[in-house]
Amino acid sequence: MPRAIGYVRVSTDKQLDNTSIEKQKEEIELYCKNNNLTLVKIYDEGAESAETMSKRKEFKKLYHHALDREENIEYVIFFKADRIARDNLDALYVYKKITKAKRNLICIADNIDTRDNHAKILYHIMAMIAELEKDNIKFRTSMGMEKNAQNGNFNGGKVYGYYSENKELLLVPDEAKIVRYIFEKYGMDQWGYRKIASDLNKQGILTKNNKFWTITAVKTILTNQVYIGNLKWKNTYRKGKHPRIVDDELWNQTQKIMRLKSYLPQKVHPGSYPLSGLLRCPQCNSPMVQGNSSSRYKYYQCSKNKNSGSCACSSNLINKDYAEQFVFSHFVQEIQSLKFTSSVIKATTQSIASEVEPIEEKLASMKQELIYLESKKERIVGWVCEGTMNELSFKQQMKNIENEEKQLLEFVETLEKQLQQRDRINLSEQISLAFENFDQFFHLMSNEDKKELLHFFIDCIYINNGKTSKDRTVKKIEYNFGYDQLQEKNTCVG
Ligand SMILES: [Zn+2]
Repeated sequence: MPRAIGYVRVSTDKQLDNTSIEKQKEEIELYCKNNNLTLVKIYDEGAESAETMSKRKEFKKLYHHALDREENIEYVIFFKADRIARDNLDALYVYKKITKAKRNLICIADNIDTRDNHAKILYHIMAMIAELEKDNIKFRTSMGMEKNAQNGNFNGGKVYGYYSENKELLLVPDEAKIVRYIFEKYGMDQWGYRKIASDLNKQGILTKNNKFWTITAVKTILTNQVYIGNLKWKNTYRKGKHPRIVDDELWNQTQKIMRLKSYLPQKVHPGSYPLSGLLRCPQCNSPMVQGNSSSRYKYYQCSKNKNSGSCACSSNLINKDYAEQFVFSHFVQEIQSLKFTSSVIKATTQSIASEVEPIEEKLASMKQELIYLESKKERIVGWVCEGTMNELSFKQQMKNIENEEKQLLEFVETLEKQLQQRDRINLSEQISLAFENFDQFFHLMSNEDKKELLHFFIDCIYINNGKTSKDRTVKKIEYNFGYDQLQEKNTCVG
């Protein structure tokens, strides 16, 4: 019998009632029984509130288990897609990981079964459509995807400028000189992170790990209090015993500039460079990112060059407008050439319908609560009339009840609005329409959504080498629609 593993977790979503862990487990066990699968293990995340996948310990274990060749796991089973993730980006991340490893993903309540090839594609597109309707269906509390921000912590306790001996930090004079240089360039000469990184690389100076300096590496130095004699301990800094490298004056000046610069407008708008990370540098094969463009011409640039300067790689600019137009139109054609079945549309409609149920249940229980509060008020009034309650505590209690009522009413109103709007949407019609007119649909999407969609279906985009940006054209787009038989067909040569 094919082997399966399951995953359960309590949703932290405040708006929806939860299916209990036990119930989820039961459903998974039942599914395996009915489908002749051996259930090897169920991973239980409990009520882990972490919102992003990266923080979920049990999920990580499940993922590694699923990928373990010797274990020969064929199915990964969830009760419902929102147990996997509360947000599309998360769901897609999981989806991509699991299916890329050629395991089948099953979401029992959502009717998602990736053995159906079309489901693989549509699962994603449905998510996108649902996303477009976000204002109508606010089923999930909105939340931004937590950025995987680098927090400046050091790995393995290696600190540039020092070496450690018996848990003590001792000065490395040559490195300390560089640290001071970095602070001076930033704080006194007002160089940017990039310029500093590039400058160090040109001088042939490497980081502690013998790598090229990057923007992040420089920033990490400039924000590390170890250089003013402090040590990090349980998220706060305390005075250390080691020698400091930077004096207070320079440190304060640096931090001041950093604060001031943070008021400058952010140059990167989310999604404004949708091909970031997909385009590959024709020289070093690193991902390409937003280039240091002028206002007239915009480019993608080799990330190695951007982060570490010309020592690491050349900029290898490619024109932004050209590359995006080329990739967008190719992508739209590719999607339209795939035939989608009505069965998948049906599955998706059902999946969204299943989200309505818990809202209806929640609504009913809230209305019940309102009735209860009403009767409570009557009782209290009765007590005051009888003289068994004084006026002061009457006022206090009334105020509490009214507050509670007000909150409930607001919530009820929101939920009712959601349900009304839900009713008005004829989903399957909308989905068919979106596919028939995918070109228009795609252009209606926000830049962020476009970016997400492209990143989901495209592995990478190769570029022809050239002397100037004009010579650089798209060479090949490697699609990944999730099924093998199409892999070869789905590359384009341009
Ligand atoms: Zn490069």
